[in-house]
Amino acid sequence: MTRRIIAGGTVVTPDAAMLADVTIEDGRIAAVVPGAARHGADAIDATGLLVIPGVIDAHTHLRLEDDEHPRRFHQDTLAAARGGTTTVLTFNNPGTGISDDGSRSLLRGLKEFRARTEGRSAIDYGLCAVLSGDQDDPLAELPALIAAGVPTFKAFMVYDFRLGDEQLEGAMRIASQHGGMLQVHCEDPQIIEPLVAEALAAGQHASRHHASTRPPRAEAAATRKAIEMARRVNAPLYIVHLSCEEALDAVAEAKSRGEPVYAETCPHYLTLTEALYADPDESEVIKRVISPPLRSPSDVEALWGGLRDGILDVVGSDHVPDRIDTEKSLPAPPFSQISNGAPGIETLLGILYSVGVASRRIGIRRLVEVLAANPARLFGLAGKGRIEAGKDADLVLWDPDARRTLTQTALHHTSDFTPYEGLEVRGEAIQVLVRGREVGDAPGRFLERRF
Ligand SMILES: [Zn+2]
Repeated sequence: MTRRIIAGGTVVTPDAAMLADVTIEDGRIAAVVPGAARHGADAIDATGLLVIPGVIDAHTHLRLEDDEHPRRFHQDTLAAARGGTTTVLTFNNPGTGISDDGSRSLLRGLKEFRARTEGRSAIDYGLCAVLSGDQDDPLAELPALIAAGVPTFKAFMVYDFRLGDEQLEGAMRIASQHGGMLQVHCEDPQIIEPLVAEALAAGQHASRHHASTRPPRAEAAATRKAIEMARRVNAPLYIVHLSCEEALDAVAEAKSRGEPVYAETCPHYLTLTEALYADPDESEVIKRVISPPLRSPSDVEALWGGLRDGILDVVGSDHVPDRIDTEKSLPAPPFSQISNGAPGIETLLGILYSVGVASRRIGIRRLVEVLAANPARLFGLAGKGRIEAGKDADLVLWDPDARRTLTQTALHHTSDFTPYEGLEVRGEAIQVLVRGREVGDAPGRFLERRF
């Protein structure tokens, strides 16, 4: 039996932050007590450090490896670990699960994902399947997928691969009946598509029009519609990457009615604003072409309020490993053709700690709730997310006093830019353990998740 002690740090849980030693036995937390006996144990001195649960990043779009990119899945999970993330949930790429005859199966997609990622992740990881309108019969496979350890799925209300309303409501109902949950991208195409067409017809091709054609009301309208559907079929609902106050209000109302509606926001919506779209340099603007787009300063403040009040449950990175030199190619195409997404897998904890905790917008106990305890609870990871006896020893030793500047050159992700270039931040991960071991000592495990 291997025994380790993290000694003398400030251990943070959603309920308390206290000086205590964390004893680890065979990869699990055995005890959290002050003055643990040290004989025979490998002791790590955490004096002056925070000991926080490893972050569970519930929203990423990792890409599978191929001959051209033989290490990218591994490299992004290693980057996640450097930033303090010990579990990552990722969506499978559109295009997986296609058989030779062209049929598209979710179960086949899962099998392919597991085969191609086996032994390739530096941290523990799980899959959230993407349901799309071009699959053969996505609803029929949901019960089997849930039974195979994939109980959460993402569906889109916008884009050409969206689910129709009837299918979306059906997916919510079936997921709920079998112990699963839909994660929904809420933007209303009936508002967005005419705005995009109008802008293009008027010759407004610049990247900044990506934002002006996706207004907050498009997100709020779709959010309300998804909430209404979930209520009709009595299903839980998880709203991904909520970005604005109008959509936040819809979630607050649903929660006040006691409905199981959960919402996630992302570090960029808590940090950056639409002012960045005014940059005359297209190469800067395309870095922020994401959906939903960045919003106003008052939306940013509203989101911090929602995080404090419990209207927002989770902060996830929405990491997309896009690169300027490939996916987002310059010169920029018309805004409607620019790849949506930006990297964030390595900076999730760093941003939330610095802009949230060090800047006194949220407390450290709330941080561990929205980055670890809540994603564990909402995504069927009962063995993770808290520093307490019996849980996996996924731990971050965090120096709250460190000061550093976020720059692309200092990061390890596969993208060739960071949306936070030049941002001065407080705090840094000193050591990260996955099930009690240093990252890199053993590959992460695929997590079959259950509620
Ligand atoms: Zn996403």
